[in-house]
Amino acid sequence: MPPGDLQTDRPHSARIYDYLLGGKDNFEADRRAAEQALQHTPTLPISMKANRRFMAKAVTLLAERGVRQFLDVGTGLPTSPNLHEVVQRVAPDATIVYVDNDPLVLTHARALLTPVGTGAVSYLDADLRDPGTILTSDAVTEGFDLSRPVAVTLIAVLQHVTDDDQARDIIGRLMAPFPAGSALALSVVTIDNDEAGQGTVNTYNQNGVPVVARSRAGVESLFTGFTLLDPGVVPVHHWHPTAEDEGVDDAAVFMYGGVALK
Ligand code: SAH
Repeated sequence: MPPGDLQTDRPHSARIYDYLLGGKDNFEADRRAAEQALQHTPTLPISMKANRRFMAKAVTLLAERGVRQFLDVGTGLPTSPNLHEVVQRVAPDATIVYVDNDPLVLTHARALLTPVGTGAVSYLDADLRDPGTILTSDAVTEGFDLSRPVAVTLIAVLQHVTDDDQARDIIGRLMAPFPAGSALALSVVTIDNDEAGQGTVNTYNQNGVPVVARSRAGVESLFTGFTLLDPGVVPVHHWHPTAEDEGVDDAAVFMYGGVALK
């Protein structure tokens, strides 16, 4: 794909997601795919909002535990509150590196994801299937102190890596240079809550966006070699629930999440 080509005639993960969250940064092809998905699973927006809250809960906990460096892979279009806003509210000096491979995401990120604290926020156009490019980037090698813990956040992205071995390999390689005490926070798609989700998974795949739904055991296996923090892998609204999570119907949430330490 030529640099800067937005491929507006094809649905893209970040833009379908943006439409479902009520955003404006999407095109006709994205809206059509999103509407097809909503026919199978009208509760998708509830699920995605619960997933955004999971991101916020996970990085808040890690920042409160003292982590000051965050590598967010599969950032998505800016949606308030963004990860760096949540983190820098707890730890203004924290450094955040955002990574995505969608050119539209990068354009918006550069414009909108400005630091709210004193720490740096940077953006990288890279593919998570190529961890070497991410890890050898200036953003990581110069932005991070590799003697101190790093939190790698893979929020609602690994469902696009449909092979479990490949997903584990990516995680292993992304975490390899970071010291003990570093953290892995991830969320991925499931249909354990409602098998109608299979229709949505099929819709994504038919639209050229690969997606796999994982069982709880499948998600736990992605954490192989890491120590899961309480309460382990759970539906995202059950992970340290907030008041907003309490009222959410279990059948509405198509995401498992977990946080682990190296
Ligand atoms: N993390 C955000 C956005 C999730 S949408 C949130 O949870 O709200 C998934 C994001 O992953 C999209 O922005 C998409 O562009 C990105 N993505 C998908 N495949 C990717 C890949 N191979 N490399 C990097 N980013 C990818």
